[in-house]
Amino acid sequence: MARKKLIAGNWKMNCLLEEGTQLAKGIAAQVKQNKFDCDFLICPPFTLLGFVKKCLRGTKIALGAQDVHFAEKGAHTGDISPLMLTDLGCSYAIIGHSERRVDHFESNELIQKKAVAAHKAGLNTVICIGETGAERDEGKTIKVCQDEIFGSVPDDATAKNTVIAYEPIWAIGTGKTPTAADVEEVHAAIRKALAKKLGKATANKMRILYGGSVKPSNAAELLALPDVDGALIGGASLKVEDFIGIAKNACSK
Ligand code: PEP
Repeated sequence: MARKKLIAGNWKMNCLLEEGTQLAKGIAAQVKQNKFDCDFLICPPFTLLGFVKKCLRGTKIALGAQDVHFAEKGAHTGDISPLMLTDLGCSYAIIGHSERRVDHFESNELIQKKAVAAHKAGLNTVICIGETGAERDEGKTIKVCQDEIFGSVPDDATAKNTVIAYEPIWAIGTGKTPTAADVEEVHAAIRKALAKKLGKATANKMRILYGGSVKPSNAAELLALPDVDGALIGGASLKVEDFIGIAKNACSK
């Protein structure tokens, strides 16, 4: 089953206006110049979404937010609704990143609620899952990922409106990655869990990204694995040459 790869950048809480617009313009120029066999998504902080959208004009690079609230509007100080994101030109929202699960105590239930609201507003979601280092050491990786799939992915998830990102927490921003064999084993188990939850046809079409210290030098090996359908990239998405280098090494036509 051919799934088009997705190369997604999560800028996290980085970039002021000048740096962010330069980065977006640099990525846009490179995507226009080169021939890539993949989709692109960039997820800047909320403050830059409108500016980055303008920099992406004339490209097919999708714009995404790093989180979203489940309510349509109202008394939720500091939060951003799904419609506010579509209004700015977003087509994606990352949901359930481990930094939000940990720093903001986000539960599977809350993540699922956010995903339902996002889908209702026409947003696609990148739902993140992954184990801690301790869970990995205890041999619980697959169980943790399966539980997060069953708990966080809503019943309305389709291969179009949902992308899964497997991000081992111990690999995020550390320079460490699991072996290619470990990544493939976990991705295959995630696809099995998706099949149980959503049916085999949907699971076979749904993209499962790998995230955690992806860089140009390891992208080709990781993204060639049969169940790896792209990457969610943190640190390396903040430099044009690294982000584009990943696409060049893994998705050149
Ligand atoms: C992330 O936080 O989504 C991530 C994958 O970060 P990094 O690429 O820096 O490990």
